[in-house]
Amino acid sequence: MNNPSAVVTAPGSTVLGTPGEDLNPFHIAQQQFDRACLYLPKLKAGLIEYLKRPDRLITVEFPIETEDGDVRTFVGYRCLHNQMRGPGKGGIRFHPDVSADEVRALASWMTWKCAVVGVPFGGAKGGVVCDPKTLTKNDLRKITRRLVVALGDAIGPYIDVPAPDVNTNGETMAWIYDTYQVLHSGKNNLPVVTGKPVDLGGSLGRREATARGCLFAAQRALESGLIPGMSSVEGAKVVIQGFGNAGSIAAELFAEAGARVIAISDSRAAVLDPSGIDPALAVAHKAQTGSVAELAGTVPISAAELLATSCDILIPAALENQIHARNVDSIQTRLVVEAANGPTTPTADRVLHARGIPVLPDILANSGGVTVSYFEWLQNIENEQWDLDQVNSKLLRYMNRATDKVIALLGEINESLDEIGQQRAERGLVEVDLEPVDLRTAAYTGAIQRVASVALERGIWP
Ligand code: NAD
Repeated sequence: MNNPSAVVTAPGSTVLGTPGEDLNPFHIAQQQFDRACLYLPKLKAGLIEYLKRPDRLITVEFPIETEDGDVRTFVGYRCLHNQMRGPGKGGIRFHPDVSADEVRALASWMTWKCAVVGVPFGGAKGGVVCDPKTLTKNDLRKITRRLVVALGDAIGPYIDVPAPDVNTNGETMAWIYDTYQVLHSGKNNLPVVTGKPVDLGGSLGRREATARGCLFAAQRALESGLIPGMSSVEGAKVVIQGFGNAGSIAAELFAEAGARVIAISDSRAAVLDPSGIDPALAVAHKAQTGSVAELAGTVPISAAELLATSCDILIPAALENQIHARNVDSIQTRLVVEAANGPTTPTADRVLHARGIPVLPDILANSGGVTVSYFEWLQNIENEQWDLDQVNSKLLRYMNRATDKVIALLGEINESLDEIGQQRAERGLVEVDLEPVDLRTAAYTGAIQRVASVALERGIWP
């Protein structure tokens, strides 16, 4: 940056940070990683360097004939960040702001997420730069099919397994499966993609899994005493940014668990009802009108006011960089539960930590999605269909175990800061002020350690 006062934004991002706040998602993912590595003095520098960078990024370009008779070219990406612990795993996003660095960031978060929650996958992510709001269903199907053909053998049941993300859903996953099946007929290709419709090998509970995982992680963290005086989501006032798969189902599940959802938003509007929004009505209203705007019983508020609404639990469930240096001081919650990937910038993280507001980080809080994707993958390999109870009770076990581990790590690291400092000194590492870590850094340290151990056990090739 030549001009230190310039505002830095992610490519195509509509969010402005403070001067000097770098909102490039991959830079942010690397900063989070670097910070955690300060607390892992035994890791070799070269191994750290390897784990920080993606194994590969594929860029593809292809035309489709759109329904309006035009021919348009689209750019797609698939990034495989790391495959030490298993095949790549990660969603495919359709959004105008998709960029190489966003996909790199999302893929690396998948590596750490799979390690945090303990599913045997590496990290991957993909996306197509497009605005689904301006495309028809037929256009989207053609884009999906051309993407899969262009990726060729870069995806596969034991290579890299896509899933839904922003603006993609079960229907998109069905198109991915169908295209891959046409190209590779004669074998069981169901595990090539997860998040499929249930009658096409999808898992019961996958659609709700990300939100259910958020609820399980929040419940466990609260039960373990993370927030003094708040031992459950029951009675909690909840604000949710983003009302798609993750956000709308979180609204339903948190409400079912006894919470009061007081404000919700989507890309077009934000609405508030302090007496409590009925999530089922909001879902029906959004299905009918395309937005949460003018939901009966609510008053309109701005996107900024939504985030600043006083509540007990704030659930960002939209996109990256929503809580940043310029708005973090306005946040009035007791707990942030990151259903979205990358919603909190490192600067905002530091401010929230200093203010005593814990953040259940994305790589833990939204890992229910990939966990049930893993269950779906297993069911497809076994040609089985598990009961919903079986899926949800297994998910609960995975989320509880991961949440306990992250909270335990937080305590362990913060109790051994002097020892870690000494180890750094013994290894001749730069002297740094080792501040107590937050939950994100604790989660990262466990995940990096896990992936690094596997890399060393396997032996660096050759
Ligand atoms: P989605 O497309 O179903 O929903 C996204 C929602 O966010 C939509 O309601 C959209 O209107 C809203 N939105 C977009 N920009 C917004 C803004 N500036 N302010 C308020 N709302 C806005 O996507 P999704 O699958 O629910 O994904 C949401 C987030 O959750 C993403 O960060 C995604 O990576 C993450 N995530 C999703 C899954 C999954 O299984 N779907 C799993 C893990 C993490």
